[in-house]
Amino acid sequence: MKTLLIGEYREGKLLDSTYELLGFAGQMSAETSMLLVGSETQLPTYSGTLYLAEAATCGEYNPGLHKKLILEAVQKESPDLIVFLHSSYGWDLAPRVAAALKAAQISEVIAITDGGFEVGCCNAKMRRTVKPATAQAVLTIQAGAFPVLQSGGTPNIQKLTAAGDCTLEFVGYEPAEKKDIDLAKAEVIVSAGRGIGKKDNVPAIQALAKALGGELGASRPVVDAGWVEHSHQVGTTGQTVSPKLYVACGISGAIQHLAGMKKSDFIIAINKDKDAPIGEIADVLVVADVMQFVPALTAKVLR
Ligand SMILES: Cc1cc2nc3c(=O)[nH]c(=O)nc-3n(C[C@H](O)[C@H](O)[C@H](O)COP(=O)(O)OP(=O)(O)OC[C@H]3O[C@@H](n4cnc5c(N)ncnc54)[C@H](O)[C@@H]3O)c2cc1C
Repeated sequence: MKTLLIGEYREGKLLDSTYELLGFAGQMSAETSMLLVGSETQLPTYSGTLYLAEAATCGEYNPGLHKKLILEAVQKESPDLIVFLHSSYGWDLAPRVAAALKAAQISEVIAITDGGFEVGCCNAKMRRTVKPATAQAVLTIQAGAFPVLQSGGTPNIQKLTAAGDCTLEFVGYEPAEKKDIDLAKAEVIVSAGRGIGKKDNVPAIQALAKALGGELGASRPVVDAGWVEHSHQVGTTGQTVSPKLYVACGISGAIQHLAGMKKSDFIIAINKDKDAPIGEIADVLVVADVMQFVPALTAKVLR
């Protein structure tokens, strides 16, 4: 099994998430090469072949050029799998590469199964296993689904030069609209999940956050239901946080939520289900009704 991993580089920096691709390849026990449109000053620590094109000349993003570079590396390596992160870079490029190769494309892979790949379905409440119907396949992997693997070493660089018509010019990035709170800076976050039951219960979670000197976070269903503003959402489509303390109240621990908070120093989860997946990453799992436990805890903290 051979994989070609497509690393990511943004605003002059190699993205750490590139190492999740190596985590994926490690779980596949696959022979690995990597392609990066980046810079020689920002190389991944990895000891395989690295096809490197300079972002300075190719642009940090240019779908036509980047696709050409990937296809060139594919021709040299003949990989079974071409693997992207499920980021805006990956989800834009992967289908273009798959269409050019007439290869199957599987998006948002969260696990590897015997001969297939697990992807979420039913709004990520369930998982299904899919198998590519072509010998070569193009995948995107969900952020946080695979471990970061930094095996060390220096890559064997094969330089690629992008040639061809440039129909698009990469202009740059625009910062996202300023949010009313910056959860990324919070040292304590107390997050509300669907398990809190109703909007009227949000103030109780907020009260614990305040008592602990922290901020209110939320899972996506709580935001989608309109109980809490989107600026408080933690996860792949919300904010990525790494506070000293993260308290997950009635949150099951879906991959998309974990991707946003699993780097927290200490995680306390309150859940009535002792087998809730959040228990796998929590330092402490309190098995209790969240709306009985949280007000009692807040009262103790304030005492
Ligand atoms: C493309 C995509 C992007 C996504 N992005 C995000 C994201 O950024 N952030 C995010 O959070 N999700 C995201 N999701 C949704 C994610 O897959 C989950 O559906 C979501 O995280 C579940 O939220 P939850 O844990 O609050 O709810 P649930 O999964 O419904 O879990 C509720 C939990 O509460 C517990 N519970 C119920 N009642 C009580 C009680 N009385 N006391 C204690 N515990 C109780 C239950 O046991 C359960 O574990 C995304 C999904 C997709 C498809």
